[in-house]
Amino acid sequence: MAILQRSFGHRVEKEREGLWRIVFHFPTSTNCWLLEDKGELTLIDAGCFWNTGTIFDTISSIDKPLRRIAITHAHPDHAGAAGELARRTGAQVFAHQLDVPYLTGKRSLAELEGSTLSHYLHRAAHHLGVLNPPSVDEPLPVEEADEIGSLKVIHTPGHTPGGVSFWSEKHKALFVGDNASNRFSLLSINMSVFTLARAQLIESFEKYQEYDARLILPGHGRAHYSQQASADLLNSAQNVQRHHRRKISN
Ligand SMILES: [Zn+2]
Ligand SMILES: [Zn+2]
Repeated sequence: MAILQRSFGHRVEKEREGLWRIVFHFPTSTNCWLLEDKGELTLIDAGCFWNTGTIFDTISSIDKPLRRIAITHAHPDHAGAAGELARRTGAQVFAHQLDVPYLTGKRSLAELEGSTLSHYLHRAAHHLGVLNPPSVDEPLPVEEADEIGSLKVIHTPGHTPGGVSFWSEKHKALFVGDNASNRFSLLSINMSVFTLARAQLIESFEKYQEYDARLILPGHGRAHYSQQASADLLNSAQNVQRHHRRKISN
C-alpha cells in the first residue's frame, strides 16, 4: 500500500488499484474511501466539515470526476463534508431514507431512544450544535438492494436507524461505516454510546454472512483483509455478547 500524501492531520493511501483511503487522525482516525467506478469516483463517507478542502484536493490529484457520495450514516464525522463537496463537484449524495432527515437538518438523532447515557450524550451534542452534520441539499434516499454505481446497498441498522453498508463485488469488499472499527488491528463491533440499538446492530452482522467478503473497510481504523472476513465480523460481535453474558452472570 503506497502513501500518496501525509500531513500532521491526515494521510492518503492507495489501498489497492482503484481504491484509496483518506484517514483523518483527529478526532479518531476517521476514514473516507474513494472507489474508482468505470473511470469515475465514488466517495464513501465524507469526514468532518473541516476536511472538505483535503478531500477535494485528493479528488483533484486522482484526476477523475467525483459522481457519487455514498454516506453510511448521518453522523458528523462521516457526512460532515458531503453537502459542500456535492455543491463544489456536482456529485449526488446518497443515504438511507431513514437517515436522510438527519442529513437535511429536518430532525436530530437526539430525538431517538437509546440507553440513558446515550440519550444524554446525544442531547448534549445536539445542544452544542455538533451532532448533526451541515445540511445536505436533496440527498437521494436509498434502501436495501439499491445500487450506487457498482455498489450494492445493505441496510445494516443499529448504530443509526438508516445505517447502511456497501458491497463491492469487484473488490469482494464491505464498507461497514461505524458498525465495526479496526483500530490497532482489532476488528470490533461498535458498542459505544453512539450506537443507538445494540441488539439490532448484532442482527445486522448476521446479514453480512450473505457476502463472501475478503476485505472489510471500516469507518475508523485500517482495512481488514481475510479469507473469511464476514465471519470475522460476526465473531467480533459474538465475542462482545459472550463478554456481556459473563459480566451479567458474575
Ligand atoms: Zn457513527
Ligand atoms: Zn465515526
